[in-house]
Formats: sequence, C-alpha cells, structure tokens
Amino acid sequence: MFEGNVFGDLDGRLCEALSESGYLKPTPIQEKAIPHLLGGRDMIGIAQTGTGKTAAFMLPILQHLLKIRKPRRVGHPRALILSPTRELAVQTAENTRRYAVHANLPLACLIGGVSQYGQVKDVKKGAEIVIACPGRLIDLMTQGIIFLDQVECFVLDEADRMLDMGFLPDIKRIISKLPCVRQSMFFSATMSPEVSRLAGEMVKDPVKIEISPDKPAVEKINQSVMSVAKSSKDSLLIHLLGTHPEWTKVIVFAKMRHGADRVVRKLNRERISSAAIHSDKTQNQRTKALEGFKKGDVRVLVATDIASRGIDVKEVSCVINLDLPLETESYVHRIGRTARAGESGVAISFVSPEERGLLKAVERFIKKTIRFDNDHPFLPEASAAGQADGLPQAPWNERGNAQGKKNRDGKKRRRKVNFAGRRQPDFRQKG
Ligand code: AMP
Repeated sequence: MFEGNVFGDLDGRLCEALSESGYLKPTPIQEKAIPHLLGGRDMIGIAQTGTGKTAAFMLPILQHLLKIRKPRRVGHPRALILSPTRELAVQTAENTRRYAVHANLPLACLIGGVSQYGQVKDVKKGAEIVIACPGRLIDLMTQGIIFLDQVECFVLDEADRMLDMGFLPDIKRIISKLPCVRQSMFFSATMSPEVSRLAGEMVKDPVKIEISPDKPAVEKINQSVMSVAKSSKDSLLIHLLGTHPEWTKVIVFAKMRHGADRVVRKLNRERISSAAIHSDKTQNQRTKALEGFKKGDVRVLVATDIASRGIDVKEVSCVINLDLPLETESYVHRIGRTARAGESGVAISFVSPEERGLLKAVERFIKKTIRFDNDHPFLPEASAAGQADGLPQAPWNERGNAQGKKNRDGKKRRRKVNFAGRRQPDFRQKG
C-alpha cells in the first residue's frame, strides 16, 4: 500500500488505519523522523503542531508496542506522552485512537479540569499508552493509581510551551520516575537555551531533526491586514462575517479573556453562532465549544492565545486577529490554525494605528510585508471623514495624532463630543 515510503515499514494494522485516515504519503517530519524512531533512537525535533508531528512520534511507538508484546500491567503504562495543554492532550489522544483503531492498544488521556473518574477507569482497564498533562499525571501518581517504572517510550511535546507555563519542576519530577533505559522524544517549536538544557537532560545520543517552523504555515496562507480604529473592530468583524457566508469555520483571536467574551456576546446578538475558549472557561465549556466548532454548530470560535497552538480543526476557513499578539511568534501559531496539512487558508489581522509597531514586529519576524486590504467601510480615514457628517470624531488620525493635537493645517483644535458621541454644535460660530 505504501511501497517506497516510510509508512511501508509499519505494521499492516497501522497502514490500514492510515489509509482510512486519508494519509496517502508521509509529511516531511514523518519522512525524516520515523526511520530513526523505528530504529530506537532518541530524538530532538524542532517542529510545530500542524506539521504531522503527532503521527511522526506516535506511529513508531505503536509499532514498538505491537512488535514487542508484554502482559498488561494495570497502572504501569509502556508509553507516556506529556502535553502542555488539555486541548493538545485530547487531540493527541484522538489521533492516536485513529492510528490504533485496528490494534488492540488501550490508552488513557489524563487531563485536569474534569473528573478523574473516567480517566482512572481507563488506567485500570490496562492502558498501555498514557497521554497526559503534567498536573493530573502527578496527581494520579501521588494517589498511587499510576506508576511510570515500565515506561519504554517517553515523549515531551511542545517543550517550549511547557516551560512558558511553568511546568519545569513537574517535568523534572516526572522524568525522575522514569526508567533510565527508555526511548525519549523531545519536541519543541523553538529552541531557547533553557529548552536545549532540558532536552540535554532528557535524551541520549539523539538524532536532531528540524522542520522549518514558519514556512509551511506562512507560505500557504493568504495574509492581509485591515486598518481599523480600535472601537470599530467588532463592527468590522460582524461586517466581514456577513459578507463572507462561505467562511463556515472562523477562529478569532483576542488579546484578553473579557474581550473574547464581549465579542461572543455581540456575535450571538447578531445571530452568528460563536463560542469563547480561554483559561477562565471550565474544561467542559472548552471541550463543548471545540466540539461545537468541529461539528459546524459553532461558526466562530473566539480564542485567546491559549488555543493558538495545538488546536487541530480541519477546514478552518479563516483566522482573524482582532488584536495582534504581543509575542510576535504567536502570530505564526495563530494563523497556522488555517491551511493545515496541504489546505490553503486566509488570515486577516485588524490593526489600529496604535498597533502599527506590533505589525512591524510581526513583519520582521516572518520576514515579509503583509498586504493591506482596505476595502471595507471601517477605515480610520472613513471615521475622520465622518466628522463632516456630524459623526463622532476618531480619537486619532492616520498619522497617529491624539485628539486635540495639531491638525494637518497646523492649528490646534479640540471638538466637543456629547455623551451620545455626536459632535455638539459650535455655538461660537453663531456669535
Ligand atoms: P499534527 O502536526 O500532528 O497536529 O498534524 C496536523 C494535521 O495533519 C492533522 O490533522 C493530521 O491528521 C494531519 N496529518 C498528519 N500527517 C498526515 C499525512 N501524512 N497525510 C495527511 N494528513 C496528515
């Protein structure tokens, strides 16, 4: 079925599942990583989610578990995958179930924020593979429900994210409970000195592979920037969603949690089905929002950066950055939610004059100037022109002058605005 490529070296049960999943040929990371991992080598992979990384490490693990059968020992898994976020853990578990659909290899997904009951049940059924977030794993280890002394394959996924989230002490504690003889795989989108130090402590004589993190996402995505006043961003969003009914799955990124909630309220008022996903939401709310979005019941998912990595939803039509991220790198992770595995996508960023600096930083990071698309009715200039019609004055003009500073003709002007936002009549003219 897969003669001539690395999938051809896998167990027939895995090949069958791959072909049912529509995986016709390996992605570059799979092509590079699978042969080394099948040979039992440790690995440091610099690659982001969206490159096919999960199958790259999971298929060799499944192959190993199928090839070397051992009697199941309840509470003693043979493979452990650590994920920084609950969403990534759930997604990794979903993919693994798909790859292992014809192999009898039970798994447990251990995440916080939900009852441990079902998870403990899965462990007690003899899960051979455990996919976990550090917190819940340590919790179950402390309760004496799970033991790591039989782990043969260990994966630390999105290591940079783990460190950002302050998981280093937890990770060290988990690693200290693993057997010394094991296969370790370390994945990270970026490699800071801190990340490399952790990798050095975890792997032995590793093969290093690097999949250029930015290119696959950025090159295929039709990126643009829309100039808009901060106060008109929600209106522009509603306008775009109204004029693009073909965008059936849209992810909107907001900087703040309360901003995300505000947008959801406004969209739902306009009868545009939407849901928010951020860290103030319970795990059940997050799962429900994500499932609704995947099924197509929710058209717009409004997220903060917590959801920018790892969320793998097929056919996201468009990503809209309501605000540009403060960390430029997040831009690539955010827009990478569209154009997954060969599809093309659209990414639009709303940029107010105050955010021009952030835009420049993003452009420097991606080494590309993003095209401006100002074909919309909410341009900052349009607000300024609106003054002539008695509409509210924009608090700045295109050059970024604050209200009350000198205008283009050099005279200092301050207009009075009443509470309804309309300019008051200028009585002095009458006198
Ligand atoms: P990942 O980076 O593992 O999150 O994978 C990103 C997306 O690519 C997921 O939707 C996978 O199902 C899909 N994918 C991974 N490998 C392949 C492949 N060889 N062919 C087609 N799709 C793939």
